[in-house]
Amino acid sequence: MARPVVLTLNSGSSSLKFGLYDISAEPVELAVGQIERIGSQPRLKARSGVDQTEMLRDLSSADVRDHEGALNMALGMLREQFPDAHAVAVGHRVVHGGVAYTAPVVLTPDVLAELYRLCPFAPLHQPHNLAGVEAALKAFPDALQIACFDTAFHRNQPLVNDVFAIPRKYYDQGVRRYGFHGLSYEYISSELKRVAPLIHAGRVVVAHLGNGASMCGMLGGRSMASTMGFTALDGLPMGTRCGQIDPGVIFYLVQQEGMSIDEVREMFYNESGLKGLSGISNDMRILEKAGTPEANQAIDYFIFRIRRELAGLAAAMGGLDALVFCGGIGENSRFIRYLICEDLDWIGIDIDRERNEANQMVISAHLSRTRVMVIPTNEEIVIARAAKRLLSSAG
Ligand code: ADP
Repeated sequence: MARPVVLTLNSGSSSLKFGLYDISAEPVELAVGQIERIGSQPRLKARSGVDQTEMLRDLSSADVRDHEGALNMALGMLREQFPDAHAVAVGHRVVHGGVAYTAPVVLTPDVLAELYRLCPFAPLHQPHNLAGVEAALKAFPDALQIACFDTAFHRNQPLVNDVFAIPRKYYDQGVRRYGFHGLSYEYISSELKRVAPLIHAGRVVVAHLGNGASMCGMLGGRSMASTMGFTALDGLPMGTRCGQIDPGVIFYLVQQEGMSIDEVREMFYNESGLKGLSGISNDMRILEKAGTPEANQAIDYFIFRIRRELAGLAAAMGGLDALVFCGGIGENSRFIRYLICEDLDWIGIDIDRERNEANQMVISAHLSRTRVMVIPTNEEIVIARAAKRLLSSAG
């Protein structure tokens, strides 16, 4: 008998991440993976959720020319491995839900048209997300298609965290602090509720530190404030993104250096952050080993901005009960976590070196007033759960 599954898709500019979940009961991961370098030298990486075996395969660029080719390639692999799977829903990660979408939604033609209208708000991401939707609509015309938004988790923040101090009409037009990484924060909030309900009910800062990096202040499991703003450029410095910057720098680069707006954008998104400051790499593992003054300064800047935002978010919430790390750096780098947390006793943080080295879930000392935790995030399962919920309500 066919078993019901949800396929999750996250399509970026040159990659397609996918997950397959059995939804006979609570969603269970069957496989996750990604096809990278679509259109150039495509490569498939996948991991079985059943026995954790990994697969790495180079693909032909003729077969994987675009997102549709990538989806068909991923589906071929999944069908081989799970011949009894029947996709009843496809859940898409969509970066922007604008002002209106505060929760996952079924993708009807009207909703899809509305999401296309939001492309100018996220021109580097939204069109690729929607290319994934179009490919899935062709491949699964009978499945329920749903969208989960990176902005949704933050949509109920107080006005002071939602607004920029520019003429009001732009706020009304949608120029707001949307905040991103919402699926990751939603997952961390749900995990906290399960493993530490008292902490969940309190004042928590979550630091999602990956190639993209942001922080979110949560009160009672809901977003109060976040470091990302109108776009995913704001806030912390990231692998290649600059983070918070004085807009005057843009005027200088355009007016004095003669750069075009596209060149400035390219530089801020792809040549800045850890890569720009170190001159070596956007990859934290490489910077930790490099030991050059520039690599160390890039790390120092990363740490400094995280600590500054931590204090700011704690002030926004009137205190701090816990700091939670997630994302590739937050989940793995003992070194960076230690540097962030050292000498923070004034905010109640007392990190336990051994627990940190052992990568335990709680890395603060027993008597630390503020708890420090490491929780591996899982954005895909948030999408699978939403799909299951919407399937139930759609009957
Ligand atoms: P993305 O935002 O692309 O999903 P990830 O969450 O996978 O990124 O994080 C990628 C970052 O995590 C890279 O900078 C990588 O170097 C860093 N990272 C992964 N493992 C480690 C580790 N063991 N030590 C330090 N940094 C690590």
